[in-house]
Amino acid sequence: MDLPKNAYFQGGIVPYSEAKVGVATHALNYGTAVFGGMRGYWNEEKKRLFVFRPLDHFRRFLNSCRIMSLEFDHTPDSLTNLTLELLRRDAYQQDIYIRPLAYKADEVIGVRLHDLKDELTIFAMPFGQYVKNDTCAHVTISSWRRIDDNMIPARGKISGAYAGSALIKTDAARAGFDEALVLNQEGHVTEGSAMNIFMVRDGVLITPPVTDNILEGITRRSIMELAKQELGLTVLERPIDRSEIYVCEELFLTGTAAQVTVATQVDHRPIGKGEMGPIAGQLRQLFQEVVHGNNPKYAHWNAAV
Ligand code: PMP
Repeated sequence: MDLPKNAYFQGGIVPYSEAKVGVATHALNYGTAVFGGMRGYWNEEKKRLFVFRPLDHFRRFLNSCRIMSLEFDHTPDSLTNLTLELLRRDAYQQDIYIRPLAYKADEVIGVRLHDLKDELTIFAMPFGQYVKNDTCAHVTISSWRRIDDNMIPARGKISGAYAGSALIKTDAARAGFDEALVLNQEGHVTEGSAMNIFMVRDGVLITPPVTDNILEGITRRSIMELAKQELGLTVLERPIDRSEIYVCEELFLTGTAAQVTVATQVDHRPIGKGEMGPIAGQLRQLFQEVVHGNNPKYAHWNAAV
């Protein structure tokens, strides 16, 4: 994978090779950081790079900061402007991934959130497909449980919590699956290792509610709106039982990295007809049109660099 060209680091834009922290950094030792992740899509015809919903991503990022007592003067607007400035400097002409990271920067021993220096960095790098079989993924049910709101809030994108996601992903990959679905303590399906989930039952699009220990995904929200507005579907937020996954008509995962990844098998059982269904197929296509800045109705979701 290509390294980033530049980074916003300690208040300015520097070559990526100069954006370095010491090994005693608090966040590296204790996971006391929060991050965001958005994509920039290169539109070859328009010769422009479009960043997808940066204001919404930065609103969630600042909420994650709030949960972890990371304090900055920034607003979603100021962070978006910083990002666009960085991207103008980078001048990528290809699809990219953008990573803002806020972290406890002191090089000290001692677990806490208070009385520590907060730092912010943003960098971007070329990025393509994330899940290889994104039209025919084979998923499993993870033996790991999703973290609870009263352990590490799943609503925040908190670095330390991604140790859980890493266990989930690696165990699934080593067992030969593309991704895993994770249950919460009640046994309801929450999401994948780093993506939200949707199933179709009786033509209704269903996704777990934000109170079921999921990340409040920006792609999730976008897909819900596109499904309602463009496909006229009924969209429900309600808990999902494990066994509903075995009997649903369609299943797909959404996220900045995963985009719309369609699952066609769960633990060696076919989902629906065992191939990509019509709703997932249409949403995949619509989503790509929108993120590339090719759908005027949703142009307000894209920030042009
Ligand atoms: N859940 C988790 C745990 C994630 O890490 C992500 C990726 N950010 C998502 C869901 C999807 O969120 P988004 O659509 O905002 O990228």
